[in-house]
Formats: sequence, C-alpha cells, structure tokens
Amino acid sequence: MNEERLINYRLGGEEWQPRFLASFDGKKCVSCGLCMNTCPGSVFIRTVKGMIEPRNRRRCIGCAVCERICPEKAIKCATFTELADQGLLPADQ
Ligand code: SF4
Ligand code: SF4
Repeated sequence: MNEERLINYRLGGEEWQPRFLASFDGKKCVSCGLCMNTCPGSVFIRTVKGMIEPRNRRRCIGCAVCERICPEKAIKCATFTELADQGLLPADQ
C-alpha cells in the first residue's frame, strides 16, 4: 500500500486518509453482523458459534466503514503510519 498516493483525497472538506482495521473488541461485539455485511474486503467471518471475528486482515482496504458502522464501538481503525508505529501493518496480521 502506497499511502502517499491516497492522502490528497478529501471527504467533506477534510483531508482523507485511509484507516485500517486496528483492533476488534470481542467483549463489546454483539454479533450483529453489520461489519461483516458491509466490509468491502470480506475481512470478517461468522464462526460456527455465530460469533463475528476478523480473519482476513490482509484484505483490509482502509475504508474504516467497520469502525463507523459498529453500534457497539467494538472496532478501532488507524492510519497506515499509526499501525506501522505499533508493528500492526495489515499485511502482517
Ligand atoms: S458491527 Fe460491531 S457489534 Fe456488530 S458484529 Fe461487527 S463488531 Fe460486532
Ligand atoms: S476498514 Fe474497511 S476494508 Fe478494512 S476491515 Fe474495516 S470495513 Fe473492512
């Protein structure tokens, strides 16, 4: 992912930066499935027990829809730089 090619886009007048899946709090998640049903990268799966889990983080495209749509605020996203600082690049997860 080349972040420099993406940072000049604007959203609502604000500079837009891609924000990738950074954390998922299974204790807050109520398994509504909204993140799984809207994620363009098919990152989330529903387990045989009916729980939602992020399983394919390498497919994350940084849209941050999951963070915005989750009614329980169980998902946090972060910029490429923030993830790199934490050693959490999507390709490594
Ligand atoms: S949108 Fe939030 S509460 Fe719903 S399944 Fe995803 S993480 Fe869980
Ligand atoms: S940031 Fe977008 S692509 Fe990445 S996991 Fe969330 S909804 Fe899927």
